[in-house]
Amino acid sequence: MMNTVVMKFGGSSVADNIKLNVVAEKIISFKEKAKNILVVVSAQGKTTDGLIKDAEELSAIPTDRELDMLISTGEQVTASKLSILLNRMGHKAISLTGWQVGIRTNSIYGSAKIEEICTKRINSEFQNGNIVIVAGFQGINEKNDITTLGRGGSDTTAVALQAALNADRCYIFSDVDGIYSADPNMVTMAKKLNEISFDEMQEISDAGAKVLHNRCVKIADKFKCDIELASTFNNNNGTKVCKCIETAEVKSIIKNEKLVTFEVIKKHRMSENEVYDLYQKLLGNNVILENFKRCENQVSFRTEKINQNKVREMLEKDFLEYEINQKYLEKLTIVGYGIVQDNKIILDVIEILKNAGLEIFDVNVTQNRIEVILNNIDNVIIEELHQKLIK
Ligand code: ASP
Ligand code: MG
Repeated sequence: MMNTVVMKFGGSSVADNIKLNVVAEKIISFKEKAKNILVVVSAQGKTTDGLIKDAEELSAIPTDRELDMLISTGEQVTASKLSILLNRMGHKAISLTGWQVGIRTNSIYGSAKIEEICTKRINSEFQNGNIVIVAGFQGINEKNDITTLGRGGSDTTAVALQAALNADRCYIFSDVDGIYSADPNMVTMAKKLNEISFDEMQEISDAGAKVLHNRCVKIADKFKCDIELASTFNNNNGTKVCKCIETAEVKSIIKNEKLVTFEVIKKHRMSENEVYDLYQKLLGNNVILENFKRCENQVSFRTEKINQNKVREMLEKDFLEYEINQKYLEKLTIVGYGIVQDNKIILDVIEILKNAGLEIFDVNVTQNRIEVILNNIDNVIIEELHQKLIK
């Protein structure tokens, strides 16, 4: 019997009362496997999207602090409902928000980082025989204001708690039963991976696959936490993220459509100071940048689509005399240990993209991945790449 397990349930697993019943049954079945059970929940279904939309109807760029105050409520609703249900089913449970647990973060609203977790309250609730249900995705900063950890951040809450409690395992339950070699909705022959290394998982998350929050993989790697991604709705084995032997082969293909490229153009060459100024302003506004490039009279960079209003407003306010272009691009990422040493894989990818007549904007090969920026990648091409590259 394990001492402590963390069970995290994603938004689609807790979307309504019927699903909450399935989740409750799953938690109860784990009582035979572990002495202490800590549950972390996401907001129900598309609640967070809905709350953001509401806020944006009131203001194109809602104040960061207030937005966190609003969107953190979704998880609290799930945690309390699940606790009500478990108690009715005869199993002692208690729900706690991020601040009740003592999840301390820095002050970056919307993408706060966890700095410290106090486990006192959780441990005393375990002592009382409670299943502890924590609202994911949230913490408090030094002012005791609520912060959120970034979209998909409940995964990070779960793994951070696993590390803090020294729990035996963290299960990330969702409506998919693990990591696939490609999105099964896109590629019919996509296959489930039994295990994957932390490095490869990190690449998959960074590539924009929504399976696991990228920051949680870093925590898991650092504290050598065992994670298993599995389905809420069946008992099949999922995918283990662990310290496994890495074999040199392509593991997964990911397409990310959520990118936007900005080009900031000036009539004459930009001075060094202007370039630095632009870079610092973007970072100062908490915009996560990819590929910031300067070329004569223009600077270009990529960011996630969710940042686009913020960036545009900042540019229009502080960089008045510049022309601003915005383009939507897609990113294709091919992940596998040691890819950089295998030109055959890179050539195969280029060949398929060339035959499809696609315009390539950027190719970037690192130790464990190939990243290609294109303006539109058809799913048929992903199928073709899958067939060629995945054994
Ligand atoms: N509810 C938040 C989101 O939708 C956090 C999460 O689900 O992990 O991004
Ligand atoms: Mg998620």
